Amino acid sequence: MKVNRHFSLTFVFGFPAIIAAMLFGIIAKNHVEGVRQEISGEFHRVEDVFSRTTKVVTALDYSFSNYYKSTHPLSLDHNKQVIGGLCQIWPIDGLLLAEGKTTDIPSVDIDYMLVGDEMLCTESSDSYRSASEKISLAPILSFLSQLDKYHAGVNFIASQGYVISSPEDFAKGLSKELLSTIKSRPYWQKTANNPEKLTLSGPAYRLDSLRRAMSMTIPVFHKGEHQGMLSVDIDASKLFESASENLAGRIDIIDTTRTLPSDNSVLYREIELEGVASHHAMYYEFDLVAELKNFFIHEKDSLIVAIIVYLFSVTIFFYVNSNIERGYFKELAAKDPMTGLLNRRGLEAFWRSVEHDQLFALTVFDIDDFKSINDTFGHDKGDDVIRYMSRQISNSIRSSDVAARFGGEEFVVYLKGDDRETLIRTLQRVKSAVCSKSADIIPNGFTISGGVCIVETEQSKLNFEEIFKYADEKLYVAKTTGKDRIEF
Ligand code: GH3
Ligand code: MG
Ligand code: MG
Repeated sequence: MKVNRHFSLTFVFGFPAIIAAMLFGIIAKNHVEGVRQEISGEFHRVEDVFSRTTKVVTALDYSFSNYYKSTHPLSLDHNKQVIGGLCQIWPIDGLLLAEGKTTDIPSVDIDYMLVGDEMLCTESSDSYRSASEKISLAPILSFLSQLDKYHAGVNFIASQGYVISSPEDFAKGLSKELLSTIKSRPYWQKTANNPEKLTLSGPAYRLDSLRRAMSMTIPVFHKGEHQGMLSVDIDASKLFESASENLAGRIDIIDTTRTLPSDNSVLYREIELEGVASHHAMYYEFDLVAELKNFFIHEKDSLIVAIIVYLFSVTIFFYVNSNIERGYFKELAAKDPMTGLLNRRGLEAFWRSVEHDQLFALTVFDIDDFKSINDTFGHDKGDDVIRYMSRQISNSIRSSDVAARFGGEEFVVYLKGDDRETLIRTLQRVKSAVCSKSADIIPNGFTISGGVCIVETEQSKLNFEEIFKYADEKLYVAKTTGKDRIEF
């Protein structure tokens, strides 16, 4: 016999798998969205740095273009020395406060140096005069160089061939050769070609270290005369290495006129800054394996939840299935397969499950001379008679009443009622429902007999066996007193 399982195995595993797949999809979608936002945030961070840099350069340019002459000779508050054919000039620490100010105000760590050829140290030289005029701007240059953690240094490279640098390390590292070639370098040229604009250049490896640097530069003019170039160096290594740790890949920048983005670059974004001449683009370097690893690490909790949902649903479906099966087999054991009525076991289970707190009747019906029906019309016809009788009984009782087949052609009917008369009438109606149309099933029809036990509420302590036995005895009386009757 085929068991009517409620859910197929495909469904039990497949449906939760679809739900889990949908959850996985949502988690993945959210993750990708999160990564995109993170990258976008990083791009913004970099753009903010560039944007701040433009302000520093612009502010310095304003100062250098409108400088006033210092009243102090450079020699008063500065040290100077000639080393390796170069002249170095740097502030004497104690004299950094402005005139009239006391040491009570917070001091600023001023760190700058002027470097030029030996002539810079000679007070009568042009470069010394020019440097004296601009030296008052050196402290502000020094201060601005410390404002942003991504700024590596600020330099003023004068046309006269000297450099004011902050911090001093950069100036110290300059060689005579380097100083003399500055003006022929591409970024000097590029900057000079864009007098109205700031120029972004790099990234390139710095000469003095393995770090990559970018620079934002502007040419300085005073009364229409070219004075030199201001440059803010950006520590590109720091700027791009400090990208969010939530990202598996890294973001980077290229000068599009010199480099092509790598094959696995995504989310390519060109840099557009107001007033800045740049040919740069940022991108995200995508590595599928690293990205997947990052996904599983970051979405671990959500993925565990999806797996739990899957296992939980499979378990639920298995549980429901086994419950349905159990119910099915239970029903199978409680029912008579030929008529679909309860069998004896089923009626006994029903008996135990109800409160017998109302007047009721238990009746045993039995077909009269059924053996001869079998003998005359055959066993199959006999079965038809049994099924017909079960239908007629079922159709003439209420849904709250119960009919059962106790084997053979013996039926037991349990009826609830308000009084004896109604119960008796109902049982007579059941009998005539079976007998009156019995000729439709076999020629001349057939009759049935019944034995009844009517139980008052007070007698409800009686058990099923006793009540059934009583009704069966009444049936015997009906059979022995002419049949085709109900004995109460
Ligand atoms: P009585 O009027 O005294 O009841 O006489 P009866 O011939 O009906 O006697 P009884 O009730 O003892 O008859 C039972 C017969 O029912 C015996 C058996 O051949 C027949 N029978 C039992 N189960 C089935 C069944 O499932 N199908 C058919 N066709 N006959 C059955
Ligand atoms: Mg019989
Ligand atoms: Mg019988």
